[in-house]
Amino acid sequence: MGIERTFSIIKPDATRRNLTGKINAMFEEAGLRIVAQKRAHLTKAQAETFYAVHAERAFFNDLVSFMTSGPVVLQVLEGEDAIAKNREVMGATNPATADEGTVRKLYGESVEANSVHGSDAPETAAEEIAFFFAGAEIVG
Ligand code: ADP
Ligand code: MG
Repeated sequence: MGIERTFSIIKPDATRRNLTGKINAMFEEAGLRIVAQKRAHLTKAQAETFYAVHAERAFFNDLVSFMTSGPVVLQVLEGEDAIAKNREVMGATNPATADEGTVRKLYGESVEANSVHGSDAPETAAEEIAFFFAGAEIVG
């Protein structure tokens, strides 16, 4: 609890539909502050390393292929209880079961192309932020 930072990705299905601003507005309305942001096209190696925890899953290769299929927006979000708050704004992994009003319910196309990533715990948030951002790029 307290002021936290979490790592967020606006995924290729959302950048393709030009939804970055609409999704960012949802973060900001929830009290999350975008303290770092950059657009990138992930390499296969970056996507494989980022999702290494899922390497044994049947969907891993498809997921890496999807995450490298177009630009993404990499972000650090800051705010009170930011990790849990962002997961609430995002909604459940599968858009079909996500709560009304969440990003994934509104914009997700499928369980894979579900528009956003968000860290799930303080340890993963710190690792994921450090994987993509230098300290000087984060301005709170
Ligand atoms: P979350 O992003 O909600 O934390 P996970 O960490 O379980 O979900 O999965 C990481 C990402 O892998 C998901 O956001 C989604 O893009 C993809 N994914 C998860 N489960 C599946 C699945 N059953 N089929 C295809 N892709 C999946
Ligand atoms: Mg996850």
